[in-house]
Parts: sequence; structure tokens; C-alpha cells
Amino acid sequence: MNSEEFRKRGKEMVDYIANYMDTIENRRVTPAIEPGYLKDLVPLEAPQKGEGWDDIMKDVEDKIMPGVTHWQHPRFHAYFPSGNSYPSILGDMLSDGIGCIGFSWAASPACTELETIVLDWIGKMVGLPEDFLSFTENSKGGGVIQGSASECVLVSLLAARAHKIRQLKKQHPFVEEGVLLSKMMAYCSKEAHSCVEKAAMMAFVKMRILEPDENQSLRGSTLQQVMEEDRAMGLIPFYVEATLGTTSCCSFDNLAEIGPVCEEYGAWLHVDGAYAGNSFICPELRGPMKGIEHASSFNFNPNKFMLTNFDCSLMWVKDRFRLTQALVVDPLYLQHSYSEKSIDYRHWGIPLSRRFRALKLWFVIRSFGVEGLQKYIREHCRLAKRFEAHVRKEPSFEVASPVGLGLVCFRLKGTNLINQKLLSSINASGKLHMVPASLNDRYVIRFCVCAQNATDADIDYAWEVITQFAADMKVIMAEELENKEKVEETKENKEEEAQKEAEEGTEEVFQMLDRKNKKSLRYKRSFFVRMVSDPKIYNPKIVRSLPPNGPRRHTTDSEPDSQTFNTPAPTISSWISWPLAFLLQGVFDDLVDEPALPVRFRNWNTTLRLKGTSPSRISERSEKERRSPQRSPSTSPQPDQQSSCCNDVDSHAHRTPPTVRHRCRAHNALHCACDSSKPGAPGSASSPKMNGRI
Ligand code: PLP
Repeated sequence: MNSEEFRKRGKEMVDYIANYMDTIENRRVTPAIEPGYLKDLVPLEAPQKGEGWDDIMKDVEDKIMPGVTHWQHPRFHAYFPSGNSYPSILGDMLSDGIGCIGFSWAASPACTELETIVLDWIGKMVGLPEDFLSFTENSKGGGVIQGSASECVLVSLLAARAHKIRQLKKQHPFVEEGVLLSKMMAYCSKEAHSCVEKAAMMAFVKMRILEPDENQSLRGSTLQQVMEEDRAMGLIPFYVEATLGTTSCCSFDNLAEIGPVCEEYGAWLHVDGAYAGNSFICPELRGPMKGIEHASSFNFNPNKFMLTNFDCSLMWVKDRFRLTQALVVDPLYLQHSYSEKSIDYRHWGIPLSRRFRALKLWFVIRSFGVEGLQKYIREHCRLAKRFEAHVRKEPSFEVASPVGLGLVCFRLKGTNLINQKLLSSINASGKLHMVPASLNDRYVIRFCVCAQNATDADIDYAWEVITQFAADMKVIMAEELENKEKVEETKENKEEEAQKEAEEGTEEVFQMLDRKNKKSLRYKRSFFVRMVSDPKIYNPKIVRSLPPNGPRRHTTDSEPDSQTFNTPAPTISSWISWPLAFLLQGVFDDLVDEPALPVRFRNWNTTLRLKGTSPSRISERSEKERRSPQRSPSTSPQPDQQSSCCNDVDSHAHRTPPTVRHRCRAHNALHCACDSSKPGAPGSASSPKMNGRI
């Protein structure tokens, strides 16, 4: 394509996008397709020769659009908004045109400098303390654009980890970093986004997950108590993640209480305001920021609630040197003569290459102005209040949590099952799209105002659809009541069985209703009926309880004082998200009496079972196998063993963290190089078999 054709096609593309936006209402909000739909429509081999532009665009409409969920649709009320606006699209278009890779100041000075300036603008717009800004005199702080809130959380955790290890190393110069790490504990609320626990998993740190109060807010007293207990157990609190605007119900952790506790324990406080952080542009919405001065870092996503397209998550730190010390590598080919005077953002995050994302933010802020952005946020809050008023007027419904910004959590007064069915049938109809959440073990439906130009009429329409479907549910609820009475009658006999029967009874009514719908509405069952997005927030089935077998023994023989301690059974309900190696440490000893080790991950409870039940039997058996002629006598892994290591890498247990590693040919990645004939190695008789995969 030459520049002449680009002009023509570019104009056509702008028209296509504008038409898409103008007519988006005519499309179904969620697609009515099944997984794998596209492979029947698009060749599985790439074309050898270039194809005509018109043919490509025709396929966009015929093949791609039918599989698109329209996040900008006025009937899309799921998750949080996916920020969008014409100035942002055009800013990104220009960034794509310039096509620079701004990893250092020298790599594209404007890319770096505009980022610093725009981050200071926005920091001031949301009322961040001055020490988070770059251009404040003597400030060590500053802002950076990351790809996502998940990255901001991970990067802050890595910085906190590196900082704490450095501090501890000064106190205990002869203790290995790994040993120090094994003592360190991070904290977050149960309501924190799953990316926080994922960050802990990736950073290989233990994270204690705490119960918030009845308003889903993490309180300072809870944190104080568990930190105290942990410290008494020899653990070292080093990182706390607090959320302003949780994903499930937009609740706010109590920063004013949490902040001083973090300071007392020397813990890094990271504040994730992915959605709600944008609302602080409006001074009247800044109440939850009280205590932000205690934070070490803060992030929010303009790509959620500030009319800016994905990807754009902003992160500020109070001490940029603490951040970059965790991430600096400086090969010669990336050095330049202005390193001392300028910011090189490659040291502020994970990737080297960075797009010119500040451009779209600059376009958005200049086009809308602060006032325009405030107006947009206030309008979404007003519309959410309108929806809330509808819910409150209808006695069969209830509002499940306070409505602050653009999110309303509501439910039919009734069972979780009824609400689940209500949501499934609404989503299946394609008339609206919403997702659920679990609040205090109750299934609630999240209604979020998402479309940029949402109106009163959109809110009223949504409520009309919801009440229509709820009318069907009322028939079912009447049935359910009858079934409940049946349960009461048989309660004395077998309570559980009766409950099950009642549910089965309800299920039958649902099936009848489904059949009716299919006939009368030509109802196409889309896979969205079954879809519940995987973030934990949207999956109310996640079990939220302490691990069934109580606290696990955790030995640290390599500690100078050979201290042995039990991981605490805190007085406050919480659980620890364990990195895998900690989890498997001591597994053989534990298995002497108990052949199956219960393992609990966020979304998955399972047991880890060894074929041999006692360490002696395991070593006997593996000794025989070592002598067996079929097995390689070599202690270094052979190619086939390497690939078996890779295939089974998830279930590969070590008594101690692996020290010898090999590069796997299949994955070009480092894996543990253990002799597969050793107990616990993959392929060996004692290799643990998972009854699921991680
Ligand atoms: N934190 C909160 C509070 C969120 O609501 C979300 C996503 O909705 C995230 C983090 C993850 O955001 P991202 O997709 O930018 O990683």
C-alpha cells in the first residue's frame, strides 16, 4: 500500500469506525456464536499472495464482526467501561504512524518527555500529593504509563521485594536472599483483584489474603492484628495492596487506617484504583483517597474511566529510585550520554519496548479539558443513581452494596440460583450484557454504566429488560417456595437431600421455561449463557475458606538459628497464597501419615498424591529403578527426559528449591535439571500425580 492508497483507505477506515459507532445499537451486544466459529470461516493457512483491500474489509463485516462483543454498545453493562473516544483513537493512530519505540529518552525524546509531563498533569488533576510528581522541587517521585493495572501491581511488588531484601541483607549479610524471601509476607484483601495474587505468585512471595469488613473494606485493625501475629511468628511484613474501587462492588479499602500500619511495619503500600482512581478528577469524589500520603505507589487506568483506549494504566511512585533499583539492567547498547539528565522508562517496567501512549492521553485531555472529563464521570455516576432508584422502587429487588460511581450491584430477593438464572437468561437474549459477583457469599448482578454517551433512555431500557425477565423468574420463585415447603416437611428426615430435591425441582421449572423460550422467542443459545469471565471476581463459585488441613509446617533449617515455626493460624480469617516451592517443601515428611496432600489455589482445590506413601518406600522403589537398564544412568537429563520434565513441569516436586537447571529444547526455557530417576522427579515412580492441572 502506498501513501496514496493509504489516504484513501484511511479515510474509508475512519468512515467505517464512525459508522460502526453510530449504528452499534443495531448489533447484538454479545455474539451468538459457539467457540471455534471462526475457523470454519477463515482459511487455516496464510495467503501466499497479497489480497485486495475490499476483500479484507468485506471479511471484517462478514466474519469478524459476528464474533465481536461490542464493549461500546449502549447495552453493554459488564465489567468496567473500556475507555474510548475519538480523540483517543486518533492519538493512537498517530502513535502507530510515528511508530517509535521509546524505551529511553534518546530512543525518542518527545515520547519520554510528554509521558512525564502528562503524568504530572494527571497527578495534579486527581489530587495526588506533590511527592508523587516529577517536576516538584526535590521530588524523588514520578509517573509512568504501564500496559495494565496488573503490571503496575507486579512492578510495585517487585520493587517492594527488592527494597526489603536490600534492607534485610544489611542486617543479615550472611543470610541468603532466598532465605530472607521465605520469611517475607505480603497482604491484600479478599476483594483485591486476582492480579494481586497472581503478582505474588510470579514474584514468588507468600501473600496473606484478608477478610474485609461487611462493607468489603479492608480495615487497619485487621491488618495490624495479622501483621503483629506474623511478626511474632518470625515473618516479615513487606507489602500491602489496598484497592480503591474493588472489581466486584467498587468498595474502598480504608487507606487512612491502613497507611499508618504499613508505615509502622515498614511495608510498601501500593494503592490500586484501576477504575475508581479516574473519578478523583472530581474533587467531591476524593473522599476515599484520604491516607494516600502513606502510599508508596498508586495506579489507575484511564482505559477504564477516562475516555482513553486500552492500553493505558498510570502508575506513580514516591521514590522512583526504589522502583528502578529493582528493574535496572544496563547493557552497553542501551546506554546514552544523557542517562544522568533524563528518564529512561525502560527501567520503570517490564518490557524494553514502549509505544508512544502519552499521545492519546494528551489528545484526550486537551480535547475534553479537565471539565469535560469531570462532566463525563459525573454523568456516569448520575446514571448509576438513576438505575439504583429503579431497583429500590421495585420491592422484589434489592441493592446489594452502596452505589458511589458507575456501578450498581443488585439482586432479586431470592436464592442465588434464581439470580444466576435471571442473569443467564438476560445475557442469552443478547438484549443486555452484565456479569455477576459474589458479595458476602450472595450472588449479585453487576450493572455498570459503560457506554461513553449513555443516556437516561439506555438506563430505563435496561431496567425494562431486567424486569421483564424477572417476571418469568417470579413464576419460578413461586415454584421454589413450594419446593422449600417440601424441604421443611422432610427436614427431619434428611435436610441435605431435601434441599437438593428442591433445587432439582427448581431446575425442572427452569428447563420448562428454557424450552418455552426456545420455542417462542427463537432463542439462540449463545455460549455467553455459560460464560463467566475467569477473573475470580466474576466467579462466585470460588471457595473462600481457610485450607482444610489448617496451618502447614514450615521449616527454615538454613536460617542461622535453625528456627522452626508454624505458619500462623491467625485469629482473623485469612489464607495464604503459597508459591509452589513453599507449598511442596516438606511434602514427603507430611505424606508419611497422610498420603494425599490437599492443595488449594485461588480457583482450584485439589489433592496431590504420591504413588509411594512413605519416604522409605519411595527411595526403595526409585533405587530399584535407578538400577533398571531401561533408565539412563546419566544424572544429567537426556533430551527425552528434558521434554518429559517440561510436560510435567507443573507437577514436579522438589524437596528443596532446584539449584541445577537446564534449558529445555522444546520451550527454550530453564527448567529444573533433576535426574528423572530421583524421587519426586517426573517420570519416576514417586512423581506426584495431580488430579488436575494448575
Ligand atoms: N484492579 C482492579 C480493581 C480492577 O478492577 C481490574 C480490572 O478490572 C484490574 C486491577 C486489572 O486491570 P488490568 O486489566 O488493567 O490488568
